[in-house]
Amino acid sequence: MAALLDTSVQYLKGVGPVKYKLFNKLGIKTVQDLLFYFPRRHEDRSNFIQVGKLRSSIGEFKTIKGVINSAGIFRTKGGLTIFQLAVSDGTGTVYGTWFNQPYLKKYFNKGDNIILYGKVQQYQRLQMNVPEYELITRDEDESVHMGRIVPIYPLTESVRQRMLRSTANVCVSEFSGRVVDPVPKHVKVNQRLTDLRVAIKHVHFPDSFSTLETARNRLIFDEFFFLQTALALKKSRLKSDTSGISHKIDGQLVKSFMDVLPFSLTNAQEKVLGHIAADMQSPKPMCRLLQGDVGSGKTIVAAYAMTVAKQTGYQSVMMAPTEILASQHYLNLNKLLSPLGVKIGLLTSGLSALEKNKIKKLIKSGEIDIIVGTHSLIEEDVKFNRLSLAVVDEQHKFGVAQRLILTQKSSSADVLVMTATPIPRTLALTVYGDMDISVIDEMPPGRLPVKTYLFDEQHREKIYNFMRSQIKKGRQVFVIYPLIDESAQKQQYDSNGQMVFTPLRKGSANLKAATKMHDDFKGRIFSDLKVGLVHGRMSSDEKDKVLNDFREGNINILVSTIVVEVGIDMPNASVMVIEHAERFGLAQLHQLRGRIGRSSYQSYCILIADAKTENAKMRMDAMLATHDGFKIAERDLEIRGPGDFMGVRQHGLPDFRIANIVTDIKILEQAKYEAFSVVSGDPDLSRIENSALRLEVAKRFPDMAGLVL
Ligand code: ADP
Ligand code: MG
Repeated sequence: MAALLDTSVQYLKGVGPVKYKLFNKLGIKTVQDLLFYFPRRHEDRSNFIQVGKLRSSIGEFKTIKGVINSAGIFRTKGGLTIFQLAVSDGTGTVYGTWFNQPYLKKYFNKGDNIILYGKVQQYQRLQMNVPEYELITRDEDESVHMGRIVPIYPLTESVRQRMLRSTANVCVSEFSGRVVDPVPKHVKVNQRLTDLRVAIKHVHFPDSFSTLETARNRLIFDEFFFLQTALALKKSRLKSDTSGISHKIDGQLVKSFMDVLPFSLTNAQEKVLGHIAADMQSPKPMCRLLQGDVGSGKTIVAAYAMTVAKQTGYQSVMMAPTEILASQHYLNLNKLLSPLGVKIGLLTSGLSALEKNKIKKLIKSGEIDIIVGTHSLIEEDVKFNRLSLAVVDEQHKFGVAQRLILTQKSSSADVLVMTATPIPRTLALTVYGDMDISVIDEMPPGRLPVKTYLFDEQHREKIYNFMRSQIKKGRQVFVIYPLIDESAQKQQYDSNGQMVFTPLRKGSANLKAATKMHDDFKGRIFSDLKVGLVHGRMSSDEKDKVLNDFREGNINILVSTIVVEVGIDMPNASVMVIEHAERFGLAQLHQLRGRIGRSSYQSYCILIADAKTENAKMRMDAMLATHDGFKIAERDLEIRGPGDFMGVRQHGLPDFRIANIVTDIKILEQAKYEAFSVVSGDPDLSRIENSALRLEVAKRFPDMAGLVL
């Protein structure tokens, strides 16, 4: 049966070797591939709106059908080449318009019948800019393309919509009835899922929009269900794994640690310590995610876990994404733990080869108990003596691969990953489906919410005065720039909110660069104060020196690039000025703001921005509206969409074909519930009623599911 679906699409009616190559470009090789190549949207071609009535639909997306009256190319004063089609249906004329694509002209002839789909706009005349189009040819299967709800597929160049649709039609009518349904019957009954074969038929060629919806829901469920089953299998495997180390929780060292803490823990911290203690005590390897907004106090939790490891006679490792953060952790841990006799080491790429070797020897011989570092911990050949705990701080800044390598330095080590990027709970369940999750949902006492303001250039004077007044009160100030120096490059954030560098375009040289501003501050504006500068191109010694000076209060104003984005803890700083705030992603802005408000002083975040685009405005509004990291994350998710959100892909999640982890969250929760209950009743899916499911999950997620076919 299944073999039938492996038939090459080449043998479908009307395809052949030439078109087969085109299908390959879309990733379609077999009948199965095509059945699961879902349309991007559908168009109701049983009912076209009359062109004469489009005026009441300005701003909306509409589909019209008409005849091409004229096709012409002209140039605007601004130098744009415009290709325009006039399309009429007897009730009026609308102009399809394309920019700088004069070659399009050869595809269209006067008198051709055409369908246009696009946003209706009113200029001097009624227009659709860059509409989707389909020429109506006299195909023998015309009823597939017209007079019904028609699928519109995602395409690449040179594959025509009509060709794909005709082939999909052949494929669906011949093969959809042959598909084997991997979802166990009782799950389908519970969730009232429609039959898979019907769903496939209707997702391509629905009778109505309501059958389409039913079909989509079924297919969305399936995508989530298979992933969740794989996650459930992994989790159940981990649960029965007893290869971990049973740590000794109670003891003198931990007791002393509790005694020397400079503050009392919040209830949330206590609760999380309890989770970690239980995990570490158990012989099952810990695999826990610690989530907590910036400033909620995650570091001390990690310090506790590492103290437990030492007390049991083991080493632990803590990895941070930047040298600055690693060295801050090193300093703090040293201050707290070395009086208790714990040996701490620091390993970053900034060290000389000689220093590195020295540290590596001490790690190997077991003289160092806690080793803090950056990714050089995994790049270098670091051998531990007896590792029992790996902590990853700001884990969203690392790739899956990096995290894996670190945690595999010892297969039985407990793993604690921490993230300050809050991720909506439902999404966390998917992204970290195989981990246990703890949340610190409470800030240390006495914190005042940071006040956030948005200003433009004209208020610069006022901002400087304000900085001065805060410094007079004994506080310190961060000023963040998106650039290092004016001549070099322009920094932007990509869709994942990460900074990328692109060559500077003419005209953007007006950006205030960190170095230049530092010089201006120092030489002119704040010449009576102490001004420091830190950026990514400095050596680690230079960076350390500046940050130490800032920490010790020897610097009043620290001008910095994004290098201080994560983790940096300077409780005396009360002002964060972010220049060109529109250039930063929302998650970055929230992280930057998290550098202040870490004490009982009222803190202020000042965004200086020229938010021209809609997207930039939304980001600034979100910053003004809330300082709750979870709300920010949700807003970020809406603005950016799920694919891009904090690199969902980077977490090793599949690209969903039809499901959307944001809008389909309800279905996700149901699928998760069903998958985990199937696996809890049949932990290796060996029951006959689960055999098709087993096959499907093993095929889709071989590594995660750990199933051997
Ligand atoms: P993050 O969760 O962002 O990593 P940190 O661990 O850096 O936060 O903690 C932020 C600041 O709050 C630090 O200065 C830390 O010493 C302080 N802190 C942490 N826990 C408490 C607490 N229970 N009471 C008071 N201050 C705390
Ligand atoms: Mg931190």
